[in-house]
Amino acid sequence: MKHTSKLTFHGGAGAVTGANFLLEDKESGAKILVDCGFFQGRKFGEDTNREPFPYDPASIDVLFVTHAHIDHIGRIPKLVRDGFRGVIYSTPETKEIGELMLTDSMGILGKEAAADRLPPIYDREDVEKTMNLWQSVPYHHTPINLKGGFQVTLKDAGHILGSAQVVFMRAGRTLVFTGDLGNSPAPLLRDTEPLGAVQYVVMESVYGDRNHESRADRKQMLEDVIEDTIKKGGALVVPAFSLERTQELLFEINDLVEHGRIPAVPVFVDSPLAIKVTRIYKNSNGNFNHNANDVIKSGDDIFNFPRLKFTMETEESKAIKEIPNPKVIIAGSGMSNGGRIIHHEKHYLPDSKSTILLIGYQSVGTMGRALEEGAKNVTIMGDSVPVEARIAKIRGYSAHKDSDALVDFVRTAHDGIERVFVVMGEPKAEMFLAQRLRDYLGINATVPQKDESIEINL
Ligand SMILES: [Zn+2]
Repeated sequence: MKHTSKLTFHGGAGAVTGANFLLEDKESGAKILVDCGFFQGRKFGEDTNREPFPYDPASIDVLFVTHAHIDHIGRIPKLVRDGFRGVIYSTPETKEIGELMLTDSMGILGKEAAADRLPPIYDREDVEKTMNLWQSVPYHHTPINLKGGFQVTLKDAGHILGSAQVVFMRAGRTLVFTGDLGNSPAPLLRDTEPLGAVQYVVMESVYGDRNHESRADRKQMLEDVIEDTIKKGGALVVPAFSLERTQELLFEINDLVEHGRIPAVPVFVDSPLAIKVTRIYKNSNGNFNHNANDVIKSGDDIFNFPRLKFTMETEESKAIKEIPNPKVIIAGSGMSNGGRIIHHEKHYLPDSKSTILLIGYQSVGTMGRALEEGAKNVTIMGDSVPVEARIAKIRGYSAHKDSDALVDFVRTAHDGIERVFVVMGEPKAEMFLAQRLRDYLGINATVPQKDESIEINL
């Protein structure tokens, strides 16, 4: 029997953030969402997040969540506040990290709302209600049967711990939502699973028009920067994202320490969120790649090595500067636009023996970007701070596939693939990737507009 369903791109179309896709089946009335993320820009929670949903949240049966980044989950508590009472499905790790992320974001959103004299977009009660609706399903679980005869399974996306591709099947035809796709091979995570037999793909394109710089020397560069800072007797201060980046760094530093490639100096993870996320990683051994699993099996705790300290409390954080150099401090935010890292930067930027190591993308307007561009002075909490420390940069840390890898990913689809919808990128990146897929693979690849609906044979 031939079915028709309607796919609408309510968010994450022409934009990296705000992922929100609606799949509807006219015959059965089934309404299924994939992701419900924050629109993010200059502000953590842009005002567009306050707008009513373009559908009635109470009419939605099910929401699938690809992964726990806030641009994929940030509006779920609002969806619940506005009437959604269906079931939320994700992997167990995404559920656990998702609760941490939503709770952590409340603080930032509360501050932004207060500054704008507006009520917060969601509150604790909304998060609690959200978690009560949330169920977890491991990768490759027996398919979830939905109204209308859809069967749904989750496959590994290799992007962050628990990240999944959501696979919809009906009457022998398949639609895959990729969520964000990992930069495989990654230090900890398994590789992205191939597409296989599929007719339709809704795929991300954050790096659709760019390739990453080589990451071959990444660990060597990390070793060199640490050794250089130790030799000078300074502090190595690393602004890092709490989710995935911090755990990757710890895994690599663990390896350098355990193999005697760097001396065991004090290493501080100074971010409550990163500490909590690391705990979830620690308990999720089964979901790492062979290499990481082998290290664990050899008896090595990959998130623990001599002189590593997790500083949860504010007092512990403040005491770090009393510990004699050399030392390593890893803290958030990754772009130095808030969090504990700015206190450390205020202290160590004027010190010519110390190093600030940038390992992530620094967006325009952040202090991280100013440092990256060679600022001689920055303002931190109202004070002018001279930049005497070395500013080092290691590229190649990215949790996303680059343009070549995205094309290669589509190559993993069997013959019979009919159409690729390129989403979750800046318009330029989306257009470029769609063009490449058409030119190189001869695939009907298009870039949907925001709120555009398309009928598919599924
Ligand atoms: Zn993501």
